[in-house]
Amino acid sequence: MVRECDVLIIGAGPAGLTSALYSARAKMDTVLVDKSNPGGQIAITHEVANYPGSPNDTGPKLIEKMVDQAKQFGAEIIRDCILSVDFSGDIKIVKSQENEYHAKAVIIATGANPRKIGCPGENKLIGKGVSYCATCDADFFTDLEVFVIGGGDTAVEEGMYLTKFARKVTVVHRRDELRAAKSIQEKAFKNEKIHFMWDTVVNEIKGDGIVESIVFENRKTNEVTEYFADEEDGTFGVFPFVGYTPNSSLFEGLFEMDWGYIKTDDNMKTNIEGVYAAGDIRIKSLRQVVTATADGAIAAVQAEKYIEDKFKEE
Ligand code: NAP
Repeated sequence: MVRECDVLIIGAGPAGLTSALYSARAKMDTVLVDKSNPGGQIAITHEVANYPGSPNDTGPKLIEKMVDQAKQFGAEIIRDCILSVDFSGDIKIVKSQENEYHAKAVIIATGANPRKIGCPGENKLIGKGVSYCATCDADFFTDLEVFVIGGGDTAVEEGMYLTKFARKVTVVHRRDELRAAKSIQEKAFKNEKIHFMWDTVVNEIKGDGIVESIVFENRKTNEVTEYFADEEDGTFGVFPFVGYTPNSSLFEGLFEMDWGYIKTDDNMKTNIEGVYAAGDIRIKSLRQVVTATADGAIAAVQAEKYIEDKFKEE
């Protein structure tokens, strides 16, 4: 199928969904494509306490509302996996296995995915004790022990969430000071179920079909220790929250990038005319739902202006 449209948005997280809302509301024929269900990172976030106006919404609830709102204004949301892009002409061509999208403007909102620790055993034990989503998997660790790896906002907040299920949560951080915001740290230090292992990295996660032990190394003393699951438990959880990797491999060589994040100006314009980037995929100082939605709105308004100028003769 060839689907022609005014604005094609790639990625249905908060940035993409907001672009879709603004673009469709401006009467642009708008298509939003994502290889998974809408939501991006926020779909696996338990609590979104800092998005103004919805203090009690879970991530999935907030996404559901954003999807409904974008659809109400006529945006079409399609589940499809984009394999290649050709942004060289006035009409941008984006291809998946079976479909082709021809758009006057494209907004890239592909976001970022959780980064892995990169130690032996990690990949093999995903879903068998290793998890990157506390909201999805906390329940499996009810009354068990859990190790959270990382010292940023995500590690500490998700660690606190995990205390609602796990018997004990140990935050393992490679330095002796957390990166997380002070307000988040204060809450964590008061939580009796949270413990900290400082200056420590994970060398290996071991297990035969399920996590059974984890090998730590103290970076100051170089002491290596192996922690084994309690005999009665038989296993424990490992939740790495060590940052994110941008989903930009599709666009390598096309844009100015920094560590895989796409460079834009304040109007979300990339170095290619008619192509915009919004949300976590951009180089920016704060990656939050509120900044992603703001980016999405700006990108859509700019795309609309661009289309009206560029294609007004037709
Ligand atoms: P982050 O801020 O980049 O923190 C990553 C953490 O993982 C750091 O503590 C880092 O250690 C550690 N780390 C990185 N690679 C590691 C490795 N290979 N082994 C062990 N540890 C490693 O990532 P984030 O916490 O996911 O946060 C991402 C962004 O989202 C931030 O801007 C954050 O403020 C925001 N966020 C905000 C909230 C909120 O406001 N409620 C909630 C979640 C996220 P070092 O400290 O030594 O570098």
